[in-house]
Amino acid sequence: MLLVKVIAKDEEEVKELVSKLGEKGLHPHLVHSEPAPPSSKKVPNRLWCPYCREWRKFDANQAGYSLCEVCGVSNMDYYTRRYNHLWGFNSKSRRSRQK
Ligand SMILES: [Zn+2]
Repeated sequence: MLLVKVIAKDEEEVKELVSKLGEKGLHPHLVHSEPAPPSSKKVPNRLWCPYCREWRKFDANQAGYSLCEVCGVSNMDYYTRRYNHLWGFNSKSRRSRQK
């Protein structure tokens, strides 16, 4: 994948650039430096990427964690975990074992 970093001053400028690239047959993805919470309903089998601000497929790598297919942020990232509620699934599920 080709990654090109563009620093834009405002969002309109970015949208214009994205639509121009789209016309040329490219498929640009926006990645933000500021993480953001999900803006839409959860999509099955996807995680919210707080940097793409989209529901992304996270591909598992050899090190045992998953990476966003677009920006490469891992599911160990603080914001990825926070917005996908990946915290503490070990601690809570252990309690129900007492039956
Ligand atoms: Zn991403």
